[in-house]
Amino acid sequence: MALKVCKFGGTSMADGHTMTKVKKIVESDPDRRFVVVSAPGKRFSGDTKVTDLLYKCYAELMEHGDCKRAFADVRKRFEGIVRELNLNYDMTPVLDQTERRMDEERSEDFTASRGEYLAAVVMAQLLGAQFIDAEDVIFFDENGVFDDKKSYSAIASAVEGVKLAVFPGFYGRGADGKIKTFSRGGSDISGAIVARAVGASVYENWTDVSGFLACDPRIVDSPKRIKSLSYKELRELSYMGANVLHSESIFPVRKANIPIVIKNTFRPEDEGTSILPIAQYKPSGNIVTGIAGKKNFTVIFIEKSHMNSEVGFVRKVLSVLERYGVSVEHIPSGIDTMSVVIDSASVDNFKLEQILESIKAEVEPDFMRVSENIALIATVGHGMSSSVGTSARLFKALADAGVNVKMIDQGSSELNIIVAVKNEDMEKCIAAIYREFFGNN
Ligand code: ASP
Repeated sequence: MALKVCKFGGTSMADGHTMTKVKKIVESDPDRRFVVVSAPGKRFSGDTKVTDLLYKCYAELMEHGDCKRAFADVRKRFEGIVRELNLNYDMTPVLDQTERRMDEERSEDFTASRGEYLAAVVMAQLLGAQFIDAEDVIFFDENGVFDDKKSYSAIASAVEGVKLAVFPGFYGRGADGKIKTFSRGGSDISGAIVARAVGASVYENWTDVSGFLACDPRIVDSPKRIKSLSYKELRELSYMGANVLHSESIFPVRKANIPIVIKNTFRPEDEGTSILPIAQYKPSGNIVTGIAGKKNFTVIFIEKSHMNSEVGFVRKVLSVLERYGVSVEHIPSGIDTMSVVIDSASVDNFKLEQILESIKAEVEPDFMRVSENIALIATVGHGMSSSVGTSARLFKALADAGVNVKMIDQGSSELNIIVAVKNEDMEKCIAAIYREFFGNN
């Protein structure tokens, strides 16, 4: 029998009205047996997500020793939800206990996690489902890394004989026994973990859009929707800023070949986007599947003649970055040149200066240059490897649009072409690539 794990994002959980839609969706298909929820998100533009209210609670807790005032807003949100749902359920004891535990724990992760916790408690009431607390089934090891074996087996035993259950997303328990959250948007990861642990036939990720678009709709008006893409394409696009789904949420399901379907809570009849293992993936016939971009990178360009024959050159450069705890995003290289692309947020001016000095001392380059405020744009698609002239078309389109390309990195998988441009050229660049490969709509 098919078994579906459904994760509902913040806008689906925003208020009583949207939670009623969630209930309808879950109850319309008996295969939808395990539900993972985010904290209530924004109800309207300008509203505050519950998770952000909770980070405020933590700030107040640190400053004043309690968070009565900030927590009052969280209380109001949940009391309002229960009222809108007409639930015969008194939230007060749970809210009181949550506030008390926040005071005791004094932990940012604990405080931030309570939006998911409370949302799951309400959703379980609404569905008449069992509540399974993530702190009892999702674990991290001593290094803060997700402990897959321990978590999968705990989840599998927790759901034994359970027909319908709700899990809070976003958090689990660390080796020190304390609550630990994933990074922001991490309920997507929790959903994937539950899907993997229960051996789901599909992981449905319900959000407020009908799937992935070929590029950001703020850049191109009504871009085409992507019907299906492979895990690899998704990874490339979501790493580069296509943020429908948390980029880490692919790993748990990918290993077990569980497809992900992105669905819209507000238009459940829409087909959505399927993310499939390569064996199940049927190319759409398009050369390019999608285009995504991200701003604020720093590029260190290094040139030295005969670099190619100098044993250990690349290692020495990278070991400098490692020493400074900076992770490297890309390393495009030529015969006598290499560029190191890093996230600008990971270095301040002082650290960057120190890194440059150390590289100079370590490899004595002939020339070195730093470019800041760089955007990377990834053009992604399995179709690119089999079609001749794709890069030529892409670069001609950029030249015609007057975009100055600072760097090119074509992944060895031929799945993507990454170009670096100035931050302010990113939108123009994406629009030009879209026009070239998708037409003008
Ligand atoms: N509520 C958390 C956030 O706002 C996690 C999530 O929604 O996935 O980031």
